Amino acid sequence: MRTIIEPFRIKMTEPIKMLDRGQRIEKLKSAHYNIFFLNAEDCCIDLLTDSGTGAMSTEQWAALMRGDESYAGSRSWKRFKAAVQEITGMKHVFPTHQGRAAESILAATRVKADHTVPNNSHFDTTRANIEYVGGLAVDLLCDRGLDIALEAPFKGDMDIERLEACIKETGADRIPFCMITVTNNTGGGQPVSMANIRETRSVLDKYDIPFVIDACRFAENAYFIHEREKGYRGKPLIDIAREMFSYADAATMSCKKDGLSNIGGFFVCNDDRWAEEFKNLLILREGFPTYGGLAGRDLEVIAVGLMEALDYDYQVYRHATVEYLGNKLLELGIPHVRPVGGHAVFLDSKAFLPHIPPLEYPGIGLVNALYIEGGVRAVELGSVMFGRKDAHGNSTPALLELVRLAFPRRVYTQSHFDYLAEVIEAVWRDRGEITGYRITQEPEFLRHFTCHFKPISSEL
Ligand SMILES: *Cc1c(COP(=O)(O)O)cnc(C)c1O
Repeated sequence: MRTIIEPFRIKMTEPIKMLDRGQRIEKLKSAHYNIFFLNAEDCCIDLLTDSGTGAMSTEQWAALMRGDESYAGSRSWKRFKAAVQEITGMKHVFPTHQGRAAESILAATRVKADHTVPNNSHFDTTRANIEYVGGLAVDLLCDRGLDIALEAPFKGDMDIERLEACIKETGADRIPFCMITVTNNTGGGQPVSMANIRETRSVLDKYDIPFVIDACRFAENAYFIHEREKGYRGKPLIDIAREMFSYADAATMSCKKDGLSNIGGFFVCNDDRWAEEFKNLLILREGFPTYGGLAGRDLEVIAVGLMEALDYDYQVYRHATVEYLGNKLLELGIPHVRPVGGHAVFLDSKAFLPHIPPLEYPGIGLVNALYIEGGVRAVELGSVMFGRKDAHGNSTPALLELVRLAFPRRVYTQSHFDYLAEVIEAVWRDRGEITGYRITQEPEFLRHFTCHFKPISSEL
């Protein structure tokens, strides 16, 4: 059949509240024009993130009941560890309450003040955790990844030449490890090829630098490799995932993505000393190493979810939903990152709203317009999230101004996506009326979550 259907039936439903436009404008105003302050129930289609927002399967709900809540050495921990090791092949496994907890302990135990950590593109929490301990987080994404309109199979690849140049310039002794993020969330959810992971490994081997994979979307990346890279068609996704991890020394994971879980994360590594140091801080910050800040039932849910994420039919459907919206946008000529990513469609707010300069945050203009038009909650990945500010308060804009429409896993159906496309089309039609924003209040770190905005022309 030509039609790709959702490979599941719906057993439980959650109502969606419908507000009118006037009500949404009021809600946005009282949220200081920052969608992070909106109540979820006031969002009709919530595409803020694909993190922890997925629907669990019947097998996961059943597994939840099996949760063994013993403090140490529970049966749930054993099942969790077995699943994580089956996929990653790593010697040491540590649960954490989220991905960022794994990053934070990794940074605290390995990164010193004069250290540099390269990545294809650091995710915001990864960058913040490295910077918090005084390290420098550098992005070395290949040029293809910055070319929004370019149709290329692996735009999340690391720029190998620049990686080697960075190592030579910095000195290998000041690089505690190098990371690769699969898929590249901040750069449009673009995949990283196996060849690139392999090449990164061989460069790092030359300088004896450990390699850490940010594995949040390892299963979606494995699917992309299966579809797009020579030699992988027909291979089980778990084998592809295993090969990816086989090149790494360690990995951080947010199970809220490809763990198909609502909470959780982990850190895995092969090195005994890394593990020992990680474990000591884990006990201080998260909990005993056999639960690491999670309930036994969470460990069960993740053990099942990690395997479900590697189900081929699930990934076919998952990618079909993203492509469905991408194709509609292509037909309408609406600028977005091509090809569409694994978990999201990224609108190009620079091209969408060329009349708004970067430091008037076109991404915020677009995000807020989507909410007003249809109650759709998206998120800015641009100068608010990634812009830099020097000691004198001067701002540098981000390289890209994107708005991410992240798709929760197994949550929305095709009619939701049809509605979404209509909302985007309406905003596109009236784009000339969208104004920029200024920040009226901001914290020092991760400002996008809590800063306040004001529209520059306050017709709203
Ligand atoms: C979500 C995410 C993280 C952080 O994980 P949390 O569970 O949200 O703490 C790190 N890296 C990437 C690429 C992510 O998408």
